[in-house]
This record gives sequence, structure tokens and C-alpha cells, in this order.
Amino acid sequence: MSARLLLIGPPGAGKGTQAVRLSASLGVPAISTGDIFRENVRNETELGTKAKAFMDAGDNVPDSLTNDLVRDRLSQEDCAAGFLLDGYPRTTDQVRALDEFLAEHGTAMDVVIELVADPDVVVERLKKRALDQGRSDDDESVVRHRLEVYRQQTAPLIDLYDGRGMLAKVDGIGEIDEVTARISDALAARGILVAD
Ligand code: ADP
Repeated sequence: MSARLLLIGPPGAGKGTQAVRLSASLGVPAISTGDIFRENVRNETELGTKAKAFMDAGDNVPDSLTNDLVRDRLSQEDCAAGFLLDGYPRTTDQVRALDEFLAEHGTAMDVVIELVADPDVVVERLKKRALDQGRSDDDESVVRHRLEVYRQQTAPLIDLYDGRGMLAKVDGIGEIDEVTARISDALAARGILVAD
């Protein structure tokens, strides 16, 4: 079954964790712009070199770089029957670029899943992740800045997608399995069936 989905929510809401699970059960690739940028930083590619300073500061990587990257990725064969975007779009310019890509391919997003999480909870989760994984942008002051960037640049997209009738709000607080079940229910309510 084809499904074009995206996950939106503050840093630390659990988008990456849920994206991996949903991707497996829906049989569509999960595309995390954060993961792709981190891989480019690790491999010291030209894109990685350009993105690194923005990421370390907790700022968004410029739209032009991000949009080109996603356009290339979505053009690959494995995305033809659907995909799950994690962490993209996160600005209105990225929504514009995604809309343009989808229109060119005669398609549209099916559902936008908002993972709702309280800022105090996500700060605590990311403090723990900083200890576990040592991600350079999980330092507390950088985390607070990422939350502010989210509030200013990304949160407005929620109303935008709600206005299009595409939004499913899901509580992101609770056990991982519980949150997955909530997402599956929200998708089922929109006719997208997730295998167990
Ligand atoms: P989180 O959602 O927890 O902040 P991500 O892994 O999605 O983590 O992103 C990490 C960093 O990668 C962001 O702070 C930003 O610098 C960069 N990034 C990821 N996705 C995008 C995007 N769509 N646009 C711009 N920058 C992005």
C-alpha cells in the first residue's frame, strides 16, 4: 500500500524512533534529514562540511541545501510507492519545495503526524541522549536553542497542514510501544493500515 507520511514535532519528541518502526511496518523508506546530514558530516563530504556549523549551533541548515538533498532522495526508485519523512519539512520554504516536488509527480502527502511532547520532557530526554550517544547538538544550551528554532520556524507548519485537513495529533509521551500504537490508530482512522 502506498503511503506518503511525515512526522513533525520538537527535537526529542521521538520522531526518529517511531519513524524506524513505522517504516518497517508500512514497507516504505524512512527519510531522516538529520541522519543524512550526520552521515555527511561523518564522511566529511562537501554537504557535511557546509552543514556542520549550523547543526552544532542548533540552527536549521539552509533551505536550499536541504531542499536539494530531499529532492534527490525522493527521486530514488524506493520512494515511488511512498515514504516517511522525519524532520522535513521544517520551514515554510521547505513545505513549498516539497509541494512542488509532489505536484510534479502528480501526488500529495496522505497524513502529517504531529508527535506532541512537552518542552520540559524533551529537554530531559535529550540530556539523557547526550550521555548515551554523545551527539554534539544535545548540549543543554543547544537543545534550548533547537526548541526555540522549532517554535519559530517549524511549529507554524502544524496549522498549515491542519488547514489542509492532513494533521493527526498524537501524544508522544509514554512507552515507545504505546506511542506506536497511538500512531497506528491515527493512521487506521485515515484508512492507512499498519501491520503489527
Ligand atoms: P532533532 O529533530 O532532534 O533536532 P534531527 O536529527 O532531525 O534532530 O536534526 C538535527 C539537525 O540537523 C538540526 O538541528 C538541523 O541543524 C539539521 N536538520 C535536520 N533536518 C533539517 C531540515 N529539514 N532543515 C534544516 N536543517 C535540518
